[in-house]
Amino acid sequence: MVTVKAGLKKKLVKEIKVDVDKCTGCRSCEMACSAFHAVPKYSSLNPARARIRVVIDESRDIYVPIRAGEYTQAECTGRNIYTIHGKEYSECSFCPACCPSRDYFKEPDSGLPLKCDMCEDEPPLSEPMCVQACQQDALTYVEREELVEEQKPEVKLEEMEIVFEALVKKHGKKKVMDTFTRLSKS
Ligand code: SF4
Ligand code: SF4
Repeated sequence: MVTVKAGLKKKLVKEIKVDVDKCTGCRSCEMACSAFHAVPKYSSLNPARARIRVVIDESRDIYVPIRAGEYTQAECTGRNIYTIHGKEYSECSFCPACCPSRDYFKEPDSGLPLKCDMCEDEPPLSEPMCVQACQQDALTYVEREELVEEQKPEVKLEEMEIVFEALVKKHGKKKVMDTFTRLSKS
């Protein structure tokens, strides 16, 4: 039996390793993600709804899959440019934010933010759908355990709160509250 020292706890870390040199920009990962998250499941394909997007610049042989992370109201005031093995990448090529500077990770109809949930499901998938869809092995899934210090539970925003915040930013609090009131009466 493994004994965990007092004050430490085991945490399961889920990772998707991305090999940009293997990615061909086929975008199968986007299709698979959008199908898995369609309601009902697999009822539609729409890469614009995917929680993974591939930054593609064919002229510079750049293909970088990025998964949707946190929603942010403001874009960065500047950009870093990285040169890796002779190729120039904007930091946005690696950034997972749902940000006003681009259309990624927003519901196309409503503009509401999308976030990767590692394909949580019941029963759990053996591997996330984007990894299963990638025929080039550009995406590989790894699970490992890490010992971390026990901390007080963080106050985390629920998905509903993030969506509410985005709606208020877009339409104003009064309009959102009026709509909720109207819907709750109908
Ligand atoms: S892990 Fe699942 S939710 Fe996240 S990008 Fe891949 S397919 Fe989409
Ligand atoms: S499925 Fe694989 S090769 Fe195709 S775009 Fe996605 S990561 Fe790249």
